[in-house]
Amino acid sequence: MTGELKKATESALELINRYNNIYICSHIQPDGDSLGSILALAMAIKKLKKKGNINVVKVDNIPSYFNFLPNIDIIEEKDVNQEVELFIALDSSDKERLGIGAEFLSKAKAVINIDHHVTNEFFGDINIVLPSSGSTCEIVYKIIKYMDIEIDRDIATCLYTGINTDTGRFMYSNTTYETHMIVADLIKTGIDINDININIYQNVSIERTRLLLEALNQLELHDNGKVGVVVVTQEMLEKTKASMEDTEGIISFVMGINTIEAACLLKEVSYKEVKISLRSKKYVDVSKISAKFGGGGHIRAAGCTINDDLKTAKEMVLKEILANIR
Ligand code: 5GP
Ligand code: MN
Repeated sequence: MTGELKKATESALELINRYNNIYICSHIQPDGDSLGSILALAMAIKKLKKKGNINVVKVDNIPSYFNFLPNIDIIEEKDVNQEVELFIALDSSDKERLGIGAEFLSKAKAVINIDHHVTNEFFGDINIVLPSSGSTCEIVYKIIKYMDIEIDRDIATCLYTGINTDTGRFMYSNTTYETHMIVADLIKTGIDINDININIYQNVSIERTRLLLEALNQLELHDNGKVGVVVVTQEMLEKTKASMEDTEGIISFVMGINTIEAACLLKEVSYKEVKISLRSKKYVDVSKISAKFGGGGHIRAAGCTINDDLKTAKEMVLKEILANIR
């Protein structure tokens, strides 16, 4: 670790050592990287400070296939009226992404912001923001190494899960030489990567499978098949008995089509609330598209919410995607 990163990490560790009432929190709609990073960091801080009061705040429902993560039970709803001294945000590009966590943040004496999103708003007193990192878990790995805390199997399982999921199983362009070096070190601890991958990827319910079929059956292609659009409506959820979290992964199937450069999934959360996922393969910067609608994310994976009906939301996003396709 060198330069700016080392200085920021030293300052962060100074705060972690100073304060006893620590609150750790990830973004709403938690994914593997956010859950892996909060759990790994919480476990490491518990090893570092034998006495501290370390809290991991539950800000949203956790997809059930993450139940295998060690110590997932420590993520709990917390009372915001307790004393909050230090707040640590992970994998969240802005305060709004923290949901109820933002209330803990606003009470805190100090805030550490650890993230890898290009769109990060530097809302912390200390900001450890590395957009070149494929996942927040890779940054947490470096911080734990710097703490000189042993990475045990539980911590390694959490970090591996975050790195694996945020790099699309080590396939996206954010996967680097360093990613593989870190993962090699994690595997050395003896974690069961076969078991982890079965839990994440070969654990699909029949309801989710039916929702996938339903959504793909209504796939729309635009601009000679360069753009793919899929929707998930409340009606489709009712018909298949699936839930909104079962939409995870649908967009990867669209991206798998050979002609596709950019794909979009629109989820009808409720009437006039549409959650949008955007992905691209080679040249479209989807973070720019999502930013137009107040969202954020990365060049190849981004998202936003549009408060309008599904049809209007689809037209708005599609227009923007087509403007970015060449
Ligand atoms: P997903 O499509 O999987 O929900 O999100 C893809 C990426 O975009 C993730 O890195 C996520 O953090 C980011 N993202 C998704 N939705 C939003 C949003 O509404 N606001 C911001 N700032 N980022 C988002
Ligand atoms: Mn992430």
